[in-house]
Formats: sequence, C-alpha cells, structure tokens
Amino acid sequence: RRQLRGVQAAGVSLEEMARELTVSYQAAEAGNRAKSQFMATMGHEIRTPLNAILGMVELLELDRPPQDTLAKVRTIRRSGEALLDVINEILDFAKIEHGKLELEERSVDLQSLAESSAEMMRGRAVEAGNKVEIDLPHRWRARWVHSDPTRLRQVMLNLMSNAVKFTQGGTVTLRMRQLLRKDQIWLRVEVQDTGIGISEEGRDKLFRPFSQVDSSISRKYGGTGLGLTICKEIIDRFGGRIGVDSVPGFGSLFWFEIPVEQAEGVSLEPAQSSS
Ligand code: ADP
Repeated sequence: RRQLRGVQAAGVSLEEMARELTVSYQAAEAGNRAKSQFMATMGHEIRTPLNAILGMVELLELDRPPQDTLAKVRTIRRSGEALLDVINEILDFAKIEHGKLELEERSVDLQSLAESSAEMMRGRAVEAGNKVEIDLPHRWRARWVHSDPTRLRQVMLNLMSNAVKFTQGGTVTLRMRQLLRKDQIWLRVEVQDTGIGISEEGRDKLFRPFSQVDSSISRKYGGTGLGLTICKEIIDRFGGRIGVDSVPGFGSLFWFEIPVEQAEGVSLEPAQSSS
C-alpha cells in the first residue's frame, strides 16, 4: 500500500501501472514458454544420441569381450547412465518450475514394484560394498493400487541411490508397509542406511532445489542437489508426505507416505521382471 501511495504521488495512475504490469507479465510468460520449449528440445537432442550410445554399449557387453575391455565398457555405461540421470533431473525440474509435472494413473502391483526396485538397488549397493536388507509385507491390505508406477519407482530409486551413495561398507534397508487411517489406506516406504548421516542444519535444506549438505567446491560426493526436490514435488502431487530422521555418523532414514486406492489386479504397465 505504501508503494502504491508512492506511485500515485509520483503521478502514475493505477490504470497505467496495471497496463505496464500486464505487458511485463505477458513478456515474462512468453519468455517462460520459450525456455520450456528450449528445455524440451535440448532434452530430446541430448537424450536421443545418449540412448543410442548406451544401447550400443549394452550390445558390446553382451559380446563377452576380454576382461579388461569389459571393465572399460562398464565404465562407459555407468558414466552414460549417470549423465542420463542428470539430464532427466534437469528436465523434471524444468517441468516442476512450469507446473507441468503430471502423474499418470494405472493399476500397479506393489509387490513386483517393490521387488524390481529392490533388485536394482541390490546391484548398485553391492558394487559399493554394502549389504542390502529388504523388508516387505507378508500380506498387503491392497496389493494392487491405482498409482503412477514410473514416478513411484523414481522416488524409491532416488532415495535408495542416495542411501547407497552415502554409505560405504554398511547396510541399506528398504521397508514397505501399508497403514489404515480413517478408512484410507496409506503406503509407507522407508529407506534406511548406516552411512554418514545428516546434521540438523543440513536436514533443514535437503528438499530445497540445488542444495547439498556439503556444497564446497572440494565436496566428496557428486550430484545436482535436485533429486530430493523432485521427490518432494512428486510426493506432494500424490497428496503425501516425505521426511527424514538422521543421526550424523550413524545413518539416515528417509520415508514417505502416500494415500492409495485399491485397484483390480490387472496391470496396464509392461510386464516387469520381479526376480
Ligand atoms: P544429490 O544427491 O544429487 O546431491 P539430492 O537432492 O538427492 O541431491 O540430495 C541432496 C543432499 O542431501 C545430498 O547432496 C546430501 O548432502 C544429502 N543426502 C541425501 N541423501 C542422503 C543420505 N542417505 N545420507 C546422507 N546425506 C544425504
């Protein structure tokens, strides 16, 4: 109000001010649209050749090359996958910024989703010298639910790959439960590690974009600082909550809870290996 009085005192009418604001808003909107378009094009231009490289590298691995060549091929594959992860994170963040992150809804088999995610984590964790523990319900209240399996898996993998990254020679545990609260079924997922842990002040900024607990130039762990921001956004879209409990030096427990609706046992997603 004080600013408005200042503007009026300077002889600018409210109509003029509203007109100027509209013009700048339209210019900003046009700029935003151009930026989104640029991000989408860039994503496609980078992802297409990168996927071709990764496809060829996988074929090379299947050719059973000599041991030392295989080690080099695997390094190329891991670096390519890491690059693809970074690009996907940047593109997801751009979608979030423009309110374009949308969830799909399908029938999801939680048992096979949990098992296939756990299997992926096992592969990565073992490479880092970690033990893996998986604790799944013996019986689900609702094994088939309506949800977005791709985004759900993305959050689980993100939490699990962080757990593996910040733990060396320890244990990473994936736990899943279903809770009943006022006739609503909730899915609770926990990813616990025995790694470096996070200080209280670090915990406050974890879910903010680009934040890393150690942001020094000499930091030991790589990453964009976007993973948890994207996880939080996805969980918000699900109408759920995400959080962390942690003791520095002893480990962290990341958890999320989302409401789920029971579904018929017919999967619309392509068959997933559950072994
Ligand atoms: P990134 O891992 O790409 O840096 P994230 O948003 O996934 O970005 O994580 C942000 C920061 O949170 C990490 O840089 C790290 O400092 C901290 N963090 C996340 N998960 C863990 C964990 N399991 N143990 C310790 N620190 C963690």
